[in-house]
Amino acid sequence: MTADTLFSKIVKKEIPADIVFQDEHVTAFQDINPQAPIHILIVPNKIIPTINDVSSDDEAILGHMIVIAKKIANQTGIADKGYRLIVNCGEHGNQEVFHLHMHLVGGKPLGRILAPPAE
Ligand code: 5GP
Repeated sequence: MTADTLFSKIVKKEIPADIVFQDEHVTAFQDINPQAPIHILIVPNKIIPTINDVSSDDEAILGHMIVIAKKIANQTGIADKGYRLIVNCGEHGNQEVFHLHMHLVGGKPLGRILAPPAE
């Protein structure tokens, strides 16, 4: 059995979170430390640690995460102006929680995706 993660405990409602959407495949909740006016995390209910761990069996769930991101973007009023979906992976990707998640961020201009390299 896979060990629980912070986010699997949120999925099972063992840890409180502001859940904005849940179905049998995915859960979406407010990021505890928002980096933009809208910052929502969308996670698969099943534990997939990182993008490196996805398999072809996960294609439907990963597609579903994007469909749900789009719905939440519409519901929160950020769809027209646009937003960003981010999935961090591993050490260089700065992933902190090893339960795959998609950040939906928007509600203000987000700038370039990466800071220019330091001189
Ligand atoms: P990562 O760097 O792994 O892509 O992003 C992890 C995200 O999870 C961060 O944006 C962080 O603010 C968020 N986070 C960490 N702990 C919690 C928590 O206990 N509850 C919620 N709702 N978000 C969390």
